Amino acid sequence: MSIANNLQEIKNTLPEQVTLVAVSKTKPVANLMEAYDAGQRIFGENKIQEMAEKWEEMPKDIQWHMIGHVQTNKVKYMAPFVSLVHGVESLKLLSEINKQALKNERSIDCLLQMHIAEEETKFGLDEKELLELINSDSFKDLKNIRIVGLMGMATFTDNQNQIRKEFNELHSIFEKLKNDTIVGSDIEILSMGMSGDYKLAIDCGSNMVRIGSSIFGGR
Ligand SMILES: *Cc1c(COP(=O)(O)O)cnc(C)c1O
Repeated sequence: MSIANNLQEIKNTLPEQVTLVAVSKTKPVANLMEAYDAGQRIFGENKIQEMAEKWEEMPKDIQWHMIGHVQTNKVKYMAPFVSLVHGVESLKLLSEINKQALKNERSIDCLLQMHIAEEETKFGLDEKELLELINSDSFKDLKNIRIVGLMGMATFTDNQNQIRKEFNELHSIFEKLKNDTIVGSDIEILSMGMSGDYKLAIDCGSNMVRIGSSIFGGR
């Protein structure tokens, strides 16, 4: 199967309200261009350096999403062009994104990453930490970032019930957040679901899926 065929097959299964992020980490520009030529305009990368190199080489109508863990000292390299940062989980990182956005005279959209999996190794906030963050005084001063939703990763398991439970939990936090007086009016994106679990994620209310290996092949 070609990349274009894989993309088409996945798109055929996605409801209209679901946005597809083609996760192209580790893949060469030639592979990304195949997806681009088939109409894909949103790409997800997990390393800032790699994303910046691809951004320089590729057409400028691409929206670049940073889906990996972000190191504070690298934010400056993506600030001129990044379209959405999925993995934000601290005020410190948010402050740095705000600072670099200001330098570039723009605003940067971010998702807060929530910890829903059982594995301790996965990153993210719990609900209490989420509320502390958005209610903190320093958060109010960040005028060049916008929290537009939440992102999460389920436990790596074959147990569909467990994955469903975790996705449902994230969806319910997302729905509550929409009513929040501080960020609520901007909340629109729920980023959950990868190659192995995106159908389940959509069933549970996801409106943005991050799919890599089913499009570009294994890594
Ligand atoms: C790699 C990655 C994906 C895509 O994973 P696939 O299983 O290849 O679809 C999605 N989200 C994040 C955060 C990733 O790091």
